[in-house]
Amino acid sequence: MPRNITIGDVDIEWLGHASFRFKADNKIIYVDPFKISGGEKADIILITHDHYDHCDPGSINSVKKQDTLIIAPESCSSKIPDMRAVKPGDVVSVKDVEIKAVHAYNIGKPYHPKGNGVGFVVKIVGKTIYHAGDTDKIPEMDNLKNIDVALLPAGGTYTMNAEEAAEAANTIEPAVAIPMHWGKIVGSEQDAAKFKDLCKVQVRVLD
Ligand code: ZN
Ligand code: ZN
Repeated sequence: MPRNITIGDVDIEWLGHASFRFKADNKIIYVDPFKISGGEKADIILITHDHYDHCDPGSINSVKKQDTLIIAPESCSSKIPDMRAVKPGDVVSVKDVEIKAVHAYNIGKPYHPKGNGVGFVVKIVGKTIYHAGDTDKIPEMDNLKNIDVALLPAGGTYTMNAEEAAEAANTIEPAVAIPMHWGKIVGSEQDAAKFKDLCKVQVRVLD
């Protein structure tokens, strides 16, 4: 299995767990860099919430340069002193990239209270990528339209499991859905395979 896909002019690389690197238009964007030590320097770093497997200062610092913009919810501010805080509904437009923070939370589980974390909808070179963060299937997903790539947690326990993530994908109807949040802390290859089976949209399982 490859670890990246190219959609239009955007390269999307899975770095494991919920961690991704997008490359387009000579820009490098990381989401939730975790357990990485260096790599191409970031123009923008997006952090979904303050859990250690998403907000990892060592990884952030390893790809940060002087003018890197770090966008995260307020709950991360004690770990990341120089971030710009966002809450669901906020839109940040910078360097020809539009970034919208959206809700990400649990329903019937205590780990991710509503309003604490976010997901991100990133528009770059005409493509729209949705990184869901740690979330259950939530009503706000009904409002997501014209998503080219949806990165959805499918490992269960703290987030959606494979069935729930497939339901979310079938609601959002992205051109391509990619399961994440499996293979490291929770979730297995079987979860990714089950997600793919249950999805009515195109799925790419990355390695
Ligand atoms: Zn979490
Ligand atoms: Zn997590």
